[in-house]
Amino acid sequence: MIGSEIIEEYDLENISIATLGSHSALQILKGAKELGFRTVVICKKGREEVYRRFRVADRIIVLDEFIDVMKPEILEKLKEENAIMIPHGSLIAYVGVENIKKLELPIFGNRILISYEGDRKLEREWLTKAGLRMPKEFKDPKEIDRLVIVKFAGAKGGRGYFLASSYDEYKKKVDELLARGKITEEDLKTSTIQEYVFGVNMYFSYFYSPINDEVEFFGIDRRYETNVDNIGRIPARDQLNTNIEPSYVVVGNFPLVARESLLPKILEIGDNVVEISKKIAYPGLIGPFCIETMITDRLEIIAFEISVRIVAGTNVFTQGSPYSYLLYGDNVSMGKRIAMEIKRAVEENRIKDIVT
Ligand code: ADP
Repeated sequence: MIGSEIIEEYDLENISIATLGSHSALQILKGAKELGFRTVVICKKGREEVYRRFRVADRIIVLDEFIDVMKPEILEKLKEENAIMIPHGSLIAYVGVENIKKLELPIFGNRILISYEGDRKLEREWLTKAGLRMPKEFKDPKEIDRLVIVKFAGAKGGRGYFLASSYDEYKKKVDELLARGKITEEDLKTSTIQEYVFGVNMYFSYFYSPINDEVEFFGIDRRYETNVDNIGRIPARDQLNTNIEPSYVVVGNFPLVARESLLPKILEIGDNVVEISKKIAYPGLIGPFCIETMITDRLEIIAFEISVRIVAGTNVFTQGSPYSYLLYGDNVSMGKRIAMEIKRAVEENRIKDIVT
């Protein structure tokens, strides 16, 4: 619990909100400023202009690489600012879950759960305990008996994923990808073979407030993925000629609302996931999280991943989402919701309940 020890040395009157300059930093910083916090952005050289131009950062710290945030002199600067670090996808991708566990700064959220990210086994245990259905996994490719999606771990970001309906097809595609140097034997070892779920994507974002002890449903997005989202524009006969494979590289997000009859289930999912989180890594979830799902034509919700921090999909709701509007009125982004929680925690002397 490094963060809650460090925060004892902080001047709570002068807390600042810090984040890496990437992912969802704009809304995090903007939300913090709206609540009256000082803001600090830690940028990679060349990216600082974004935060200057949008006037969201009171201080910009420029690094050669994001990983340099681990350096003692940078941590010292952040401690001088009484900075609370807001984690997001780029912190996980570029600093890494092992370093996040050791980061000598108070982190908004539960750093143990954050370290689950990318570990499909731990995620599966958690989500199934919470009663969620997940796609069937095939440990042995020889058992493939239906359409499957083969996923590679880490920074591949949906590139190189492929579909297969049988072991022969799987083998043929793997051999081809290996021969072309698109994947390595190591990638293959850490890959996952999952039943392909027919349906549409919905990414549900929630916020668990330890201060109110309540799970708030924040909003829904879907991703815009190249090239899969446009393959349908190519007639099937031409697809055959080009031998095209789908890829799932995220380039943006769309806002969504769910039909209202899905809401009871969506709320229940959030509640269950929070309840189980308290059992697996006390104090459990803190703040934003997102459950990535597929909805089938029988209205089944099948989950395939969880993110234990703000997701970039909430960037579509800088001015608030249809659901945050119901709870808070206008202009409450996820970034601002985080700042609201920190402000209340400071006022009620409960800051240790929201950082680790
Ligand atoms: P991430 O990029 O967050 O790790 P995934 O790799 O799990 O996400 O998924 C990337 C894309 O593949 C998403 O569009 C998702 O909808 C799709 N996808 C993932 N798993 C399945 C599945 N089991 N069935 C159908 N589509 C899937």
